[in-house]
Amino acid sequence: MEVGLRLGRLRASLDDAGCGALLVTSTTNIGYLTGFTGSAGLLLIDADRAVLVTDGRYRDQAPREVTTAGTEVEVEIAVAERQKLLNGLTAGITNLGLEADSITWTDQRRYADWFDGTTLVATDGLVETLREVKDEGELARIAAAAAIADTALAEVWPMLDTGPTERQVASALDNAMRSLGASDRAFETIVAAGPNSAHPHARPGDRTIARGDLVVCDLGAIVDGYHSDMTRSARIGGTGDGPEAEMLTAVLAAQQAGIAAIADGVATTAVDTACRNVLTGAGLGDAFTHGTGHGVGLDIHEAPALSGTSTATLRSGHVVTVEPGAYIAGVGGVRWEDTVVVESRGCRRLTRSPSTT
Ligand code: ZN
Ligand code: ZN
Repeated sequence: MEVGLRLGRLRASLDDAGCGALLVTSTTNIGYLTGFTGSAGLLLIDADRAVLVTDGRYRDQAPREVTTAGTEVEVEIAVAERQKLLNGLTAGITNLGLEADSITWTDQRRYADWFDGTTLVATDGLVETLREVKDEGELARIAAAAAIADTALAEVWPMLDTGPTERQVASALDNAMRSLGASDRAFETIVAAGPNSAHPHARPGDRTIARGDLVVCDLGAIVDGYHSDMTRSARIGGTGDGPEAEMLTAVLAAQQAGIAAIADGVATTAVDTACRNVLTGAGLGDAFTHGTGHGVGLDIHEAPALSGTSTATLRSGHVVTVEPGAYIAGVGGVRWEDTVVVESRGCRRLTRSPSTT
């Protein structure tokens, strides 16, 4: 991964954000910029220096990780002396940026006290914007996480016909992903069947999955901190006919239309519209009750969002999901979701499990 280049890109955005230095408090962002994977630290970046302040637990790990990542970051171990240290580092800085999305009101008050005499500036998504475009190393990790979920789903899928509970299937998927090398699951695995499938974020329960049920399996793995996200739907015992069959066909067509709409330079709302038009045409517009997708990377949900209100434009290297769904109480729900990487003239699927009705 090109971790060493990221500090330079961030520095280039500080002027526009109106700050001479940035105090990075999000541990995910600190990891992205420095390679440090510890759970506690503060990273101060100005035009010339980047200083990571962490505690004694990371005395060996922090210098090793920033060196391995090829970043020019100085490591300081400090707890009680943090304020004095950071205050010294920001001497001469008029405006200090804080990450508005990652600090609490309590933090803000503490920093106002620590940096008395410096103007604190709320910044919005400076590092998150850099994180949207993935480099080859990041894409390889997301692809590895996607492949693990593909294999886990293929291994567990036959179990659906044997009358298991939702919870048993979810736990089999989780175990399979871990045995295949995932450090963890990307989120609480969703296996929702029958009436439960009508809830987009259903939690697996103890109801036995029965013939004729719609079933939605939404799963992802984590590899080296990077997530994947995929959903497959089916009807137990065969698609058959009726509203369940219509939902399966229409949602898959909507997802294919969404994926076909993706390319560098396309507005995220256009992808949402492409999916929504298909479902509206099938009389299921009102049953599609959530946005079409989201960015995926070090977080399972990150920028850019693909929704009717999103203002973002897709760029080559963005990794996003396309996940239209339809949910009808008393009938059930259907969702298809793939994680794709945006390319100049289209996109490439990273999750590759077969999609059929
Ligand atoms: Zn999902
Ligand atoms: Zn998703």
